[in-house]
Amino acid sequence: MKKTLLAIAILVVVLFAVASFRAISLFDDLQVIPAVGITAIDVDEAAAVQHFSEALRIPTISHDDRSNFDAQAFLDFHAFLQQSYPLIHQQTTRTVVNNYSLVYHLKGVEPGLEPVLFMSHMDVVPVEDITLDDWTYPAFSGTVADGVIWGRGAIDVKIGVVALMEALELLLSENTRPERDIYFAFGHDEEVGGTDGAAMVARHFEERGVRFDYVLDEGGAVTSGLNNAVDRPVAVIGVAEKGHANITLTVDAPGGHSSAPPRQTSLGVLSRAIVKLEDNPFPATLTHINQYFEYIGDYTSFMTRFIMGNQWLFAPLVKKMMLAQDATAAALRTTTAATMASASPKANILPKRAKALVNFRILPGETIETVKQRVVELIDDERVAVEIEYGNNPSPASPVDTRGFKLIASTIRGMDDDILVTPYLLQVGTDARHFYPLSANVYRFLMFRATGKTLQYVHGTDEQVPVDEYLQSIRFYYHLIRQSMAA
Ligand SMILES: [Zn+2]
Repeated sequence: MKKTLLAIAILVVVLFAVASFRAISLFDDLQVIPAVGITAIDVDEAAAVQHFSEALRIPTISHDDRSNFDAQAFLDFHAFLQQSYPLIHQQTTRTVVNNYSLVYHLKGVEPGLEPVLFMSHMDVVPVEDITLDDWTYPAFSGTVADGVIWGRGAIDVKIGVVALMEALELLLSENTRPERDIYFAFGHDEEVGGTDGAAMVARHFEERGVRFDYVLDEGGAVTSGLNNAVDRPVAVIGVAEKGHANITLTVDAPGGHSSAPPRQTSLGVLSRAIVKLEDNPFPATLTHINQYFEYIGDYTSFMTRFIMGNQWLFAPLVKKMMLAQDATAAALRTTTAATMASASPKANILPKRAKALVNFRILPGETIETVKQRVVELIDDERVAVEIEYGNNPSPASPVDTRGFKLIASTIRGMDDDILVTPYLLQVGTDARHFYPLSANVYRFLMFRATGKTLQYVHGTDEQVPVDEYLQSIRFYYHLIRQSMAA
């Protein structure tokens, strides 16, 4: 008995020693990348704010029903850019792609260097009628009040368009001579999939044989207070994004009067199928969380490092904790969300056809086809027809040991060296996914401080950006573009 206790005690001590050793030695460090060439710059703040406000007043709305597209709003937006940024319109070549998307090309003096592409999108989501009165200032007023710029699209993502233009206009006013070509591309339908805008822009480049050293789009931010493991702001740079599939489940039946029903109606069969999917979520993996922790691990508490560094022991616990919350659970697995359904139009008519749509957000490693396969196997009922209505596969993961990633990371740290930098997996889609054929190095980041509160404004009521955050994003782009222009 005593011997057993002693053996257990020794085992615990040894395990703890091994575990502690792992905790302090596992993590890499991106935070030592030097920040070069970051100096204070002179932004004409009043003019920059005025431009942003004007941009927000133009209702460049993307509607799910594309027949509601307001062409004039986009043409007005083009005219606004032309009037506001004269040097860019003198010194770059502007190409209108598919009538409404814009490409600007600033030529560098050194031939043979791969250009860099900066992206954003001009369209915004609609404001739902029932929320119109909830806005502190009207959604398309571009009101500037209390140090804040208000309006639909402020965060998502006219800040990107306007800040890029402000930064380049300033660089051109200083007679900066680019060695490397710089491109801007602004899509006009990102919020409804980017098929008319960014996808056509990507094709435009492909046809001309243009390839990029790196591509930077929206989809990352400086998170603050969103991660309890570390008390410093963390800049997350998107290096990959989840895929997306809408899968329909359809059950056909003879129909008839509801007074003499079969044991199961088509709606009953369909409901069981949905229950099976919800009861059997996709397997969870810590792969993407681990990459994230590799970079901020050194700055977390000993306890966090101890747990994250010893997943041979703690993986089940970490998974359980993360799966308990919907937001963190989504980072661990392909998600399943039944979102639409229809059956009989009348109470006393048996449904001839019951149909549901299930929306999946697909983790890298899976494909639209493997997701469909799993759905068919889980439902295991020939009465349920399973079809892919729409889908795109997860993106590849862009490498982090590249000139582009390091430039982005060092510029962020140059703006504020309290900020930690880490790559991450985006759980929603961006226009950037269309550009993988043009560059292996596709990144997503915007210099904007995202807190729990600011994230609620994205696609929500009272969307707004503090003036100083906006000015900071101009300074960020200024330094990043200037360094990216260099050979
Ligand atoms: Zn967006």
